[in-house]
Amino acid sequence: MYIACPRCDWRPPPNARWACTCGHHWHTFATHGICPACGKVWKVTQCHACQVWSDHEEWYHDDDGLTVEEFLRRFAPAEEPQPS
Ligand SMILES: [Zn+2]
Ligand SMILES: [Zn+2]
Repeated sequence: MYIACPRCDWRPPPNARWACTCGHHWHTFATHGICPACGKVWKVTQCHACQVWSDHEEWYHDDDGLTVEEFLRRFAPAEEPQPS
């Protein structure tokens, strides 16, 4: 899983900060969009690159860069016990 703007693919660096209406600054993806100071839930998040507000959930992307081995390991059925 990685976090990126759904519009322009900007990846927020660890030192990125978002401002809440209460004046608090924090990394919104560290708290899933919830301001740790006042508890306000931000369902949309503004991109620092293209300035577009997007649904917070749309920032979370599944990593589709799996190798074949990783793909097989993830989706293979549980191994059956070997007959002895
Ligand atoms: Zn706040
Ligand atoms: Zn963007």
